[in-house]
Amino acid sequence: MSKINAERLLDDLRRLSQFGANNPGVVRPAFSEADIEARNWLRIQYTKAGLDASIDGMGNVLGRSKKSGPALLIGSHSDSQPTGGWLDGALGVIYGLEIVRSLAEDPLTRGLAVDTVSWQDEESRFFSSLGCRSFCDQLPPGTLDGLCDKEGHPLEKALESAGLIDVPLFKLEQGRYLGYLEGHIEQGPQLELQQKKIGVVSSIVGVGGMVFSFKGIQNHAGTTMMKIRKDAATALFKLASRINEEFPKVAGIHSVWTMGRAIIHPGAPSIVPGAAELELQYRDASLEVLEAFEETAKNLMEEINVAGGATVESRASRVQIPPCEMDSNFKRHLSDAAEMHAPTLWELMPSGAFHDAGIVQRVIPCGMLFIPSIGGVSHDFSENSHDEDIVLGCQVMADAAASLLQEQAI
Ligand SMILES: [Zn+2]
Repeated sequence: MSKINAERLLDDLRRLSQFGANNPGVVRPAFSEADIEARNWLRIQYTKAGLDASIDGMGNVLGRSKKSGPALLIGSHSDSQPTGGWLDGALGVIYGLEIVRSLAEDPLTRGLAVDTVSWQDEESRFFSSLGCRSFCDQLPPGTLDGLCDKEGHPLEKALESAGLIDVPLFKLEQGRYLGYLEGHIEQGPQLELQQKKIGVVSSIVGVGGMVFSFKGIQNHAGTTMMKIRKDAATALFKLASRINEEFPKVAGIHSVWTMGRAIIHPGAPSIVPGAAELELQYRDASLEVLEAFEETAKNLMEEINVAGGATVESRASRVQIPPCEMDSNFKRHLSDAAEMHAPTLWELMPSGAFHDAGIVQRVIPCGMLFIPSIGGVSHDFSENSHDEDIVLGCQVMADAAASLLQEQAI
């Protein structure tokens, strides 16, 4: 088995973290100056590794192997959250680069074809997994028309200032790929809590959600008697509390739900609120559980509506993502490699966070590997992982990549 170069891997990860550095984290949102500089640096590293490398009209960096296929595509994203950690996405991108180099240095794996990628805008500045969806033809129709970020900056302008306006888009080449591998930090505490070193991702959880609109009657908080009030906020608090009581009865062991956005109108202490809005999001790897959450929430709305106070209606949240199972053969190769390098210290686990692999799996087989996040922290400057875990994860993925490609060649 080819051996990865630990020092080279860690050096390149640290070099990438210097683009948009805000030590110990990074500020490198998609199409920012730092992001484009990082992508140009990556393109050069891909070229030095012997790949045909370029950046496409959506900002994806692709390194294409000159060896005959079928090829494996390995990577992740190098854009960050507005205030992000140095490993989120970057880890999987540099894994791809290091795996190409280490396979090429070993006579037994020299002939294997690996393409590398850094997807653009996984972190949703303009649209979630914009680059990867573009590559896989998975952008909902009309997405790009007038697309702006949350501050109202048009994508068109961002592409123009990055010099990408007339640059062709990469599209998935039919028949080229055996599949896609992505390494990532876990971004949660499970591996660390269970003292495991590697997570082989079984599936990427689906996301569902509902927006509840409450309608009451706005009035004076001093003169309106309690028994005649139609208080929109009271109905909101009631529904939120009932959701927290009832959801555990239909939840799976990894289910999570969040009511992260609530608006009370007009939002003054001396006014009985006449309107309110609450957004609920839920995630699970099972479609049945997601459906059970929706049905439970609808039943609870009914309770509110028959109680005689404010009324509630709902609509589906903008983001609805079905659960996505990783490919079983890819899981097997990753599990075998994990067992070889970290016997008993790995586990199959769902990913609670969304990843580009959740899009790519719609068109080619995918596998994902996690390494532990210290304290389970991510999307924060303090995000970190132990060097030895970073190195171990790359070696496991390199072995899985080689065995997947060699199996194909037999
Ligand atoms: Zn990420």
